[in-house]
Order: sequence, then C-alpha cells, then structure tokens
Amino acid sequence: MSQEFPEMQSRQRVAIIGGGVAGSTVALYLAKQGIDVTVYEKNQRLVSGPPICHLHAGGNLYREISEQHCLELLRQSIEFVRFFPSVVNVRPTVIAVPRGDEGKPEALLPRLNVLRDAYKKLVELDADNQVLGKPDDYFHEFDRQTLNELSKRQPPEAPQTLEEWLIPFAKHTDLDKLKFPVYVVQEYGLSLFRVASSVELWSQQIANLHIRTGANIEQIRELEDRYELELAAGQTESFDFVINACGFRTGTIDDKLEKPRQRLVEFKAAYVTKWVKHQHEKWPEVIFHGQRGTPQGMAQLTPYPGGYFQLHGMTKSITLFENGLVQSGGNTSQPQLPQHLVDKIDNGWPEQVQTSRSQSAIQHLAQYVPEFVSAEPAGKPLYGAQQIPGLEPSLRSADVSFDGERYARLEIVKASSALIAAKKIMSRWFVNQPFNVSTTLALKPLDVELVAKQIARDRGYPESLAVAY
Ligand SMILES: Cc1cc2nc3c(=O)[nH]c(=O)nc-3n(C[C@H](O)[C@H](O)[C@H](O)COP(=O)(O)OP(=O)(O)OC[C@H]3O[C@@H](n4cnc5c(N)ncnc54)[C@H](O)[C@@H]3O)c2cc1C
Repeated sequence: MSQEFPEMQSRQRVAIIGGGVAGSTVALYLAKQGIDVTVYEKNQRLVSGPPICHLHAGGNLYREISEQHCLELLRQSIEFVRFFPSVVNVRPTVIAVPRGDEGKPEALLPRLNVLRDAYKKLVELDADNQVLGKPDDYFHEFDRQTLNELSKRQPPEAPQTLEEWLIPFAKHTDLDKLKFPVYVVQEYGLSLFRVASSVELWSQQIANLHIRTGANIEQIRELEDRYELELAAGQTESFDFVINACGFRTGTIDDKLEKPRQRLVEFKAAYVTKWVKHQHEKWPEVIFHGQRGTPQGMAQLTPYPGGYFQLHGMTKSITLFENGLVQSGGNTSQPQLPQHLVDKIDNGWPEQVQTSRSQSAIQHLAQYVPEFVSAEPAGKPLYGAQQIPGLEPSLRSADVSFDGERYARLEIVKASSALIAAKKIMSRWFVNQPFNVSTTLALKPLDVELVAKQIARDRGYPESLAVAY
C-alpha cells in the first residue's frame, strides 16, 4: 500500500543520480517529507555499491581520526539505526593492540571516555537514542588475567554477557602477541544487504518516490531554472533540483556540469572465508591494530552466522591495492583508477586473484589467531571504490556539498552520514516545507531479512552474510 502526504506535496521535483546507500537514503528521507523524488540508478537494483559491514558508531576502528569526527560518527550512526532499525548486527568489537605495534592501548582511553559520556547525554535527551546498549556499557576493558580465565570456559551458542562474548577470542587468540588491556566497545556490524532490502521494501510504499533502475544518466545540462537529464536512450527529463549521488563516479557528473571539485577515490576489498572447525562459536568482531599500508596493517575479523568471517587486512596485498588511492587533478574532478581496478568493479575478479588474496587475508589474521589458518576462502570478495572529498585520505566523516542554488553532491565516506546529508538538503532547499517527524521505517525484521537473503544470493554471496547476527 502506498503512502502519500498530500498536505505537504511540493510541486518541485528532485532528481537523484545514483541509488547507492547515499542516494537511496536521501531519496527516502526527502520523499517521506512529501518531496517528489526520482532516483536514477544505472544498475538493476538499489544499494549495490561497495560493501558496508561496520556501523562505525564512534569511529573506534580508526586511531588516527579526530575526537570531533568520532563524535559525529557516533551521532550519525544512532540516527541511521533509528531510521533503518533492522540493519545492525549486534555484537561487541574487541580492540587489541599487538606487541609489535608502536601504539599503547591506554592511548585509546580518553577518546572512549568522551564517546561514552556523549552517548549517555544523547540517551538522556531521548531514550530512543539507546541503540548501542546501556551507555555505561559502551566500552569495557579486559586485562590478561581475566582473558586467561575466560579462555578455560566453553563458548555458549548464544552469549548473554560481555564475558561470554569474549570466550572464543580469549580461547583462540595468541594472547602473548598482545598488549593489555584490550578494550571491548559496542561497535556493531551493519548489513549492506539488509539496508538494500529495507530501501527496496520501503520505497515501494511511497507514491511520490520514483525509482528508475537500469537508468544510466549519460548527459546533464544546467538551464536557467532547471536541469535536464539525458538517459542512454536519448530520452530527457527536467528537474528543479539535482543531487549527484554517483559514489566514486561523482566527478563524472561534476565534469559534465563544469563544477570542479577535489576528491580522492580509493579501491578496497574484504574477503569472505569459512572456518568450519569453530563454526558454532559466536565471535565478537576483532580488530588487531597495525600501521595502515605496511605489512603489519590492521587485521580485522568480522563474524557472520554459519562460520563465515569477513577479513580485512590493511596491507597492499590484502585490502589495499597498488595505485588504489588516486586524486582528481588537471581538468577533471574524476580521479582515475587504474583500468584493472575499474574492470574488477565492472566485470568481477579473476578467480585466481580472489583466492590468493583471500589466502593472504587468512594468513594475516592467523598471526594472532593461529588456528584460523584452517579457514578457507569462501567465494567472491566484497569490494569496490569510494570517494573521499578533499585530499585527506584519513577523512571519515563527510556528507554533502552544494554548488549553486540547485545542485548538491553526496560525499559520504561512511553510510551513516547519509541521513545528515538528507537533513542538510531538506533545510537548505525546502526550508518552508513542514517536516514530517515520523521518519522511522515500519518494516518487519523478518521481511527485511528474507529479501536481504535473496539479494545476497543474487549478487553471488552466501546468504549468511544477510542474516541478523
Ligand atoms: C571495501 C569497502 C568497505 C567499506 N566498508 C564500509 C563500512 O563497513 N561501513 C561504512 O559505513 N562504509 C563502508 N565503506 C564505504 C561505503 O561503501 C561508501 O561510503 C558508500 O558506498 C558510499 O555510498 P554512495 O551511495 O555515495 O556510493 P555508491 O554506493 O558507490 O553508489 C553510487 C551509485 O551511483 C550509481 N551511478 C554512478 N554513475 C551513475 C550514472 N551516471 N547514472 C546512474 N547511476 C549512476 C552507481 O551504479 C552506484 O549504485 C566501504 C567501502 C569499501 C570500498
């Protein structure tokens, strides 16, 4: 059944080019406010961009980013989860500093305290902000002795306490390789497949939201009071406002409109593996810190049901790629990735490369969890390219930029920033439009999961990656 908001319908029309997580979230948000929105997505389905597996509620996976950006990510993540309630995988994240790393675990503590206090205040302001557990439990620290004791216990199938969650980590990690304490933070997983499914199900319910998939915008012209968009078939349509949400290809539309912008584009990949030996153990997420781009770059284990684990390794032979970070310049706002990386995005990976990189990821993780060496590559990597506005590669919190009165670019680096971008657009372009306060998605979690499993299968991934953990 479709919903309409006749008293708020605006006659002005907005086109969004690109139906990734940014374009789709902004489309849903604006359409819920009564704006007439059309999304053009060149792929056959929405939210088919690079993988998203972490919510980043507090930015704790990054040591190098500012406290301010961490606070922004915390606030934005809370809003995102309230907007898309069925998309998080609720499990804690262990943050460990290896002995071989220069960092000190205690260096993480001041920022964690600030984040916990900020979360507490947000919950005091509005109890519905409590989407990351109790504020006092936002993080805890564990010393070596406690982990030694936990390593003697049997992991339960459904952990109830933080200690129970830590049993598999304590049992299988080579604790001699770590500095102490380790911190355990309520940083949750985020399922791209359930975001895609939520967007599909919700967009079907809004009459003033028009989705055109398989629709590549080939050309765009700025006229005096409107924009004209041209599709491959030569068809044109006019809009009052345009939002460029083309992800790492945002520069191609900027170029057509001669609206220059500096940005970086980065290609990255994560690997899907299966660890049959311990498939009934429920793991937390685990981060072993390390210096990005060196052979000791961060190793990251992201758990899914059924013994599946997604791995990142921040080295050039695993997640990062030679010439995989490029910047705009000359007379183009579109950074140029090497052709072999563009081919991976457009046409997929040679099987041999995907297996060898998955094996490297397994070895990298096995430095800290020796038994993980028995894990096996489990198919297609999760990969893609993303834009980072400006020239600072470590930027993690960005949202929208405007050029002129009627053109905006979505420039999110993390999915959770999409909603703040939507709010900024709403208040800049539709300042007199009454806000519809009820923007929460009314979907049943099981319906979301069912469609998400199908999306995962259609994209060639195990359906476990779509199941709530
Ligand atoms: C390996 C990897 C892991 C990541 N992990 C996380 C994570 O855990 N958490 C997180 O928050 N973020 C993560 N990110 C970042 C996140 O994926 C991006 O920030 C996000 O995808 C950006 O969303 P977007 O909608 O702007 O771009 P995209 O998702 O790339 O969407 C852009 C869309 O525009 C379409 N398009 C492009 N040109 C045209 C055109 N001319 N006409 C019509 N359609 C067009 C494309 O087909 C695409 O669907 C990760 C990125 C990578 C690469």
